[in-house]
Amino acid sequence: MSSVSLQGENTQEVNREFLAWLAGFWEGEGSAIIEKRRVRVRIAQVDRAPLDLIQKTLGVGKIREDDRSGRNPKWKKVYTLDIGRKIESLEVLRLIFPFLKFRQKKIVEAINFLEKRLFVECSRCGSKFERRSASHKYCVDCGEAIRQKRRKEYFQRPEVKERMRKNTEEYRKKKKMRATVSSLPSSEVHQAPTCGAWPRRTR
Ligand SMILES: [Zn+2]
Repeated sequence: MSSVSLQGENTQEVNREFLAWLAGFWEGEGSAIIEKRRVRVRIAQVDRAPLDLIQKTLGVGKIREDDRSGRNPKWKKVYTLDIGRKIESLEVLRLIFPFLKFRQKKIVEAINFLEKRLFVECSRCGSKFERRSASHKYCVDCGEAIRQKRRKEYFQRPEVKERMRKNTEEYRKKKKMRATVSSLPSSEVHQAPTCGAWPRRTR
């Protein structure tokens, strides 16, 4: 399986101690929200320093500043570290997972979601490939067609099945209508005017 290794400025600092601290910090201040197509892994903080440290150490994410003092002078600036890319989110979650004490279930859900979106599995040998690089149509290890399996999966989704059923029904209806029209005796069908007159029913 291909995987991305995080390369921060201080890669050597990504040690157990840092990850344990990050896991605790994330448990307190962070979130991993599963949306329709992505997982938002972020940590929001009034103090920017720890976010800078995380970004610098892991080499991922962007820090956004949210100044809401215009609305309420009592509100402080909030900084949010957002790990944007899926593959980076997955890597970070995998790194902190062993050190978590409380929110493992949430993280497992997020990891599974990301893996499903990022990787495609060969149905024959079980090798996994990154979806984006899986423009190769065949499994490198065994030669099984990869895309075909994805297609099959797609057509087995209930919403797709329902849509296809409706389309077929509509098509059959139209076909039946056409057949009915063409089976009518010619006298029942409006005939094109031959002398510029308005179409009329012929006897
Ligand atoms: Zn294979």
